[in-house]
Amino acid sequence: DEAREAIAVHARMVADFPKPGIAFKDLTPVLADPVGLSSVVTALTHGCRGIDLVAGIDARGFLLGGAVARELEVGVLAVRKGGKLPPPVHSVDYTLEYGTASLEIPASGIDITGQRVLLVDDVLATGGTAVAAAELLQRAGAHVVGVAVIMELDGLGGRATIADGLGADLPVHA
Ligand code: IMP
Repeated sequence: DEAREAIAVHARMVADFPKPGIAFKDLTPVLADPVGLSSVVTALTHGCRGIDLVAGIDARGFLLGGAVARELEVGVLAVRKGGKLPPPVHSVDYTLEYGTASLEIPASGIDITGQRVLLVDDVLATGGTAVAAAELLQRAGAHVVGVAVIMELDGLGGRATIADGLGADLPVHA
């Protein structure tokens, strides 16, 4: 369909980034293309019902999350890399494909208790980032009801990690 075609045309594969041996899929040009952005956002929202909030993961997930939230007519929350937000924050440390990091959301100013949250990001690799982001949202009292990404990388076990960490019945849409 249109999104698959836009990804095939515009996605850029970068060898040995950010470390030797890693094949980085850069979806930046897909998002910069008008058909690319609209088709992937439409694909990401496909089948989404009963969402109260979209959470976009730093940093391309912010771009996608805002557009997906607008489409679903709900609000958006940025799940940020550590050290960017003013206190108080909910914070979680996690391991990713290449190193360790932390994610944070505000612990004041918004109340997401009981909200049904769709997690949005560009790429699912090992799944560590998505699980960490979901744990953060759950700690703030929200229910993560789905994960939506543009691209899932084969062979890194992302789906299995999400099933282990968040339950096998959590929908993962790629
Ligand atoms: P994971 O935690 O290993 O699933 O990695 C997913 C996170 O790292 C997402 O936030 C992605 O944006 C980023 N990431 C990992 N691999 C790639 C890639 O090949 N291209 C773009 N982003 C990636």
